Amino acid sequence: MLDLLRRIVEEVNNAPNLDQALSIIVRRVKDAMSADVCSIYLTDELQQQHVLMASEGLNPDSVGNIRLTFDEGLVSLVASRVELVNLGNAPEHPRYYYFPESGEEKFNSFLGVPIIHHRQVLGVLIVQSSRTEKFPEESETIMITIASQLAGAMAHAAACGEIERILEQTDNALDDSKPLSGLPGASGVAVGTAVVVYPLADLKAIPYRQIDDIDAEIAIFNVALESVRQEIRQLSLRLAEVLPSEDRALFDAYLLMLNSESLGGETIAHIRKGSWAAGALRQTIIEHVKVFKEMDDPYLSERADDIYDLGQRILGHIQQINHKQTEYPAETILIGEQINASMLAEVPTSCLKGVVSARGSSTSHVAILARALGIPAVMGAKNLPVSRIDACQVIVDGYSGHVYVSPSQNVRDQYQQLAKEEAELSSELMGLRDLPAMTQDNIHIPLFANTGLLSDVTPSLHSGAEGIGLYRTEFPFMIRQCFPSEEEQYQIYRQVLDVFHPLPVTLRTLDIGGDKALSYFPIEEENPFLGWRGIRITLDHPEIFLVQVRAMIRASIGLDNLHILLPMISTVTELTDSKFFINRAYEELIEENLEVKRPQVGVMIEVPAAVYQADSLAKRVDFFSIGTNDLTQYLMAVDRNNASVAELYDSLQPAVLRAIYQTVQSAKRHNIPVSVCGEMAGDPASALVLIGMGIDSLSMSASSLTRVKWVIRNVTQVRAEELLKDVLVMEDAKTIRQYLNGRFEVSGMGGLVRAGK
Ligand code: PEP
Ligand code: MG
Repeated sequence: MLDLLRRIVEEVNNAPNLDQALSIIVRRVKDAMSADVCSIYLTDELQQQHVLMASEGLNPDSVGNIRLTFDEGLVSLVASRVELVNLGNAPEHPRYYYFPESGEEKFNSFLGVPIIHHRQVLGVLIVQSSRTEKFPEESETIMITIASQLAGAMAHAAACGEIERILEQTDNALDDSKPLSGLPGASGVAVGTAVVVYPLADLKAIPYRQIDDIDAEIAIFNVALESVRQEIRQLSLRLAEVLPSEDRALFDAYLLMLNSESLGGETIAHIRKGSWAAGALRQTIIEHVKVFKEMDDPYLSERADDIYDLGQRILGHIQQINHKQTEYPAETILIGEQINASMLAEVPTSCLKGVVSARGSSTSHVAILARALGIPAVMGAKNLPVSRIDACQVIVDGYSGHVYVSPSQNVRDQYQQLAKEEAELSSELMGLRDLPAMTQDNIHIPLFANTGLLSDVTPSLHSGAEGIGLYRTEFPFMIRQCFPSEEEQYQIYRQVLDVFHPLPVTLRTLDIGGDKALSYFPIEEENPFLGWRGIRITLDHPEIFLVQVRAMIRASIGLDNLHILLPMISTVTELTDSKFFINRAYEELIEENLEVKRPQVGVMIEVPAAVYQADSLAKRVDFFSIGTNDLTQYLMAVDRNNASVAELYDSLQPAVLRAIYQTVQSAKRHNIPVSVCGEMAGDPASALVLIGMGIDSLSMSASSLTRVKWVIRNVTQVRAEELLKDVLVMEDAKTIRQYLNGRFEVSGMGGLVRAGK
């Protein structure tokens, strides 16, 4: 048997594509198991169905046509139980579902195993036989082994978009009232039209798009094709001095591939069938790559990479042309495999109604940006069929993390109602804007705004914020081509300090590294979040640090509302070194006869080491600001951007709450103010707990401010302390969240923690 398994696995691994791998498996497994039927069903998350994708033994016409909903048939039973089902008399089982077109009435025994990758069911592998006894135990182990091998191949195919392509061929309509699940990224609900965006020149991520104006699309393609031809000719000329002509013959081969009988002609033929140029190109290139890969001659099979590379080049030009043409509908829901901050910034804010990203989590910077803009976002929607949903109607529920594609009228009506209630609630809450953030027992908990993501500080200014609690200075650095000069930085900081004067403004020193890269300062690391990041970089580059701190201190002249915040501090030495440079910048400015004042200096508590050294740090600073985004990441050992482990990523985890509480108590012992500036501060449920801990202030996206103010104004410090006491004995984040959300429902303000009013 081992030998048989090895042979099947080898054949599957050598299969050029998933279709063929599936056919090999059903054929081989049917024989090996002496079964009458072997079939493979693929799970279509979007349609919430299992689709028969390959079969040896059932009517071949039923392949692609038999679709079982998630609660139909024995196949769904295997998938939902995530374990094998082995039956001697399947037709008698209550979950048996009979498809007349399959011709399966003559089969009695049934053995099905789920195909699972990273806890996710990708499909089901089954064998059937006319015998009336169960399959033997040995068959079970073989089936499990084959399914686990198949899972790896299928996960790979899913990542390359192959599964979506296969499913796309079998379904005709996207009509769905069941949602896809992702992670809540930014609260709110929105109904709009999907605009799928993808990274520049990524051929695999190109969606299918139907077009009407075929001539215009062919014209775009021809312009792109001609640009690539010219590039190749120039490349060949440039290399003429260093390469012999026989090596340069490769470029002639490229030019040949681009001509009308080959890539060019086929792409145009696909466009004529109604596809936009980028999608047609994708189809042509993938077909050609497949043909070359299958060739026995290693030289020729390696040419597959050249073809792909040519495809990428043409795509780059198509995208440049399209880039100028993108029109965003009035209610745009921006969707992509990995939405980044610049894609989001491209959409006029008046059109942008929601964001859905297949990757990332609630503390990815794009989610933070969505929150700053006050639009709902769903992150980590792993099963998002990106290539199939461009221009579809989409609903985004940023509370539950649900996304509905082409929803039924009923669901759409419900969400339109919820969106209306949301808008009403927000406008009611705006009434709180100018009222003090004071608890019912008169404790003032100032609410500050987080900014830096937007060049414009106006939303923060109009949100009723009592200052800026976190200005992320890295963003002005990220949008430039080189490090900004002291004068450029001075202008930016001065504007913020001036606009908010006399209110305090906390400018954080440069926090690059991790997921925030500067194009002009590349950092290549295996583990960027555990590497050269934040203060570690700036202390290694005092020339960058000093310029920044000098700009900050100068910008505060005559205003004196500057607080400097140090990110990623993990040792006392880092703090003392930072203070040394801040002092040096200050002394230099004094020597230059500038009337500067010594700024307040604080540290971010965002690394577990800082929590355990909080007393030592507190003695040396003017304030603490708890960065719960990173503190959660480092305490729970979960990458804040990794959707696969996002279930663990919750600032209400008991371990995180204890670390925050310990930090607050340490600050109190040393008489310094302590704030929370991570995303947790803007979450109404979490805010209750933080108030109970005795937090002095909270800093959040401007859009969350009035919601948290409502919480403060409707609770007493004493009541919040009681709630904290209840929460501290709870042992998991889910229970804590349910308990806290329940408090809002009881007080009639469930709308603060879910969709609607
Ligand atoms: C944090 O880590 O909580 C924080 C506020 O900083 P950032 O999100 O910029 O890492
Ligand atoms: Mg941080």
